[in-house]
Amino acid sequence: MALANFFDKSALAASQILHGFDRSSFESKLVNSIVEIAFDQDAADSFEGLATIELLSSLLARLFPKIIFSVLDTDTSNKKAQMKALVRSINPNISLEEDEPSILTVAIGATKVVRNGLVLYIGSEDWNVKFSQNTPVRSGQSSNPFAAGVAACFGAANVFRHVFAHQLGSVDLDQDFNLCLLSIEKSPNRVDSETFDIGKSPLQIPETFLVGLGAIGNGAVWAISKIPTLQGTLHLIDDEKLDLSNLQRYVLTNQGDNLKCKVEHANRYLSDSKLDIISHVSDWATFLKMRNDWNIHTVLVAVDSAASRIAIQGSLPKHIFNAWTQASDLGVSRHLDFINQACLACLYPPPKLLKSDTELIASSFGLPEDEVAIREMLYNNSPVDATWLQKIAAGKSIPIDKLHPFEGKAVWEFYQSVFCGGVILGDEGGKRVETPMAFQSAMAGILLICEFIKNQISVDTVKTIETISRIDLLRPLSDYLNEMQLKRSDNNCICQDTEFRSQYITKYNS
Ligand SMILES: [Zn+2]
Repeated sequence: MALANFFDKSALAASQILHGFDRSSFESKLVNSIVEIAFDQDAADSFEGLATIELLSSLLARLFPKIIFSVLDTDTSNKKAQMKALVRSINPNISLEEDEPSILTVAIGATKVVRNGLVLYIGSEDWNVKFSQNTPVRSGQSSNPFAAGVAACFGAANVFRHVFAHQLGSVDLDQDFNLCLLSIEKSPNRVDSETFDIGKSPLQIPETFLVGLGAIGNGAVWAISKIPTLQGTLHLIDDEKLDLSNLQRYVLTNQGDNLKCKVEHANRYLSDSKLDIISHVSDWATFLKMRNDWNIHTVLVAVDSAASRIAIQGSLPKHIFNAWTQASDLGVSRHLDFINQACLACLYPPPKLLKSDTELIASSFGLPEDEVAIREMLYNNSPVDATWLQKIAAGKSIPIDKLHPFEGKAVWEFYQSVFCGGVILGDEGGKRVETPMAFQSAMAGILLICEFIKNQISVDTVKTIETISRIDLLRPLSDYLNEMQLKRSDNNCICQDTEFRSQYITKYNS
């Protein structure tokens, strides 16, 4: 079997976006969908082309069990061997046989590819992402990783949409486009020329705090690792360890990374960087207490809950860049002026209908009537014993065998392993079991760093951009990607509170 050993999590993610999801037909669809990644010397010899090939391989290997790598001209076979090793490190079971035809090809480079199946061309030029169903789009000669990485995400998203078109409501693939990341606009005939060459000239960043080294954080660190000329101090903050299910969408991870601290793993990935990188195995609140200095220049927010975002905004950093994924889209928001513009908390008004933890767990267990007992177990940190396993198996109508490996775990840990880890599906109404696809999380992380870096080099077009940019990778690219966001109309946000406003002004003299 060529499916990965973290496939449960992939199935969980897919089940949340595919209509009429059925595990066995999902598996057989994947096993029968061989994807070809084809590239030529033109791509393999360019920094941008290689970045696209590498990220596309990493994304597709996390879902598709059969991939064919093809080189389209002279000697790029060493690059092909590198990519094979990369995808095997992610899924050692992956099939790389070339004896069956692929159902579609993603091509990177300058070479026209003729196949019976569909061919998608992806590439980039400096800040511009390029996509075509018709002609090669090539890869540029710059050292800018952003458009190259985003192109890989569009490639993987279109592969997914093609393979599962019927279960996504027969959604179309992207038409040919050029997406400029400077303005986050589709601009079919425009290529912005900028004098600052990312990755070639040294770039000093202010003291910066990347909070959250999950799936979005992995995309962010991928982008940072591709800009070796960054200088300054970068703090990495996350209190969790990696587990096997993270391989489903953490683009930096492979089979050898299980149980490593997320921040240490990211730090090692950045070992070639000139940045002064400081890891903190800690959540944001604990980190702040230890730091004991609330002057915080820039925070890059890659956390996964509204509550964590509001807590970060509450500590009043000078600048915040925020990235998210959700069922309908992914995106980034910019918060550079707490006094006059929408703050991060403005985007996350208090939830009204979010289920409490005990309600959510009881409902995920299929045992809503046992909520009180489960609350007590949570309070006492009690283990889920054989009797509870039986009740849960009956409540969810699943074979008890699936639950046996988790017997004896404390109830919260049990819930996280079984329901959030993808062993079985959680309560569909509970938002916290939402699991994005790898290409969604990676793009959010890359865009997060892209926005941050754009701000450091003061590109003119950046100044006019709205607070929010969002992209839905499950549909063709929209014509309108940027949105204005005002401060909250109920006047109830911390950025409208006199105390918070005066603290911010005092801290940053603004
Ligand atoms: Zn606000």
